[in-house]
Amino acid sequence: MEKSLRDRFGRVVEYLRVSVTERCNLRCVYCVPPDSRGYEDREYLLSFEEIVAIVRALALHGLCRVRLTGGEPLIRPRLPDLVSRLAAVPGIRDISLSTNGILLPRYAADLKRSGLGRVNISLDTLQPQSFLRCPRWGAGRRYGRASKRRSRQVCTRSRSTAY
Ligand code: SF4
Repeated sequence: MEKSLRDRFGRVVEYLRVSVTERCNLRCVYCVPPDSRGYEDREYLLSFEEIVAIVRALALHGLCRVRLTGGEPLIRPRLPDLVSRLAAVPGIRDISLSTNGILLPRYAADLKRSGLGRVNISLDTLQPQSFLRCPRWGAGRRYGRASKRRSRQVCTRSRSTAY
């Protein structure tokens, strides 16, 4: 390993959070402004090649853990592909994901196969009525019913896949 990166307290920097999109499928009222249309064009997002190149360069200096975040990272197309590329970088031992969980039932198996080790599911409240006040879109109630079904699926998969 080449000279390790250290912060001003001498600690080795071994952990990197990578935001793969600024968009989100929930648009919570406290997170996304009401008139928000101002996302950057997708061409300004880091490509998978660029993300892997950055991680590869930092891994030479001690980076070993990567967390994928957003926005909501699971709305970035082909995310399992990015996970498998990161898992192949020498020195990377731990890849994790922060998600609101909406799309997790669709992608959990692929992500695990690709090398994802851990998942954090962000959940503001366990109270259904409070939860329905969070998304900034009119389909909150329909979403609430769907999310109940999905959360049961997520729980079932969580137990079976040890995420
Ligand atoms: S789920 Fe998270 S990222 Fe998405 S809008 Fe809500 S707070 Fe923001």
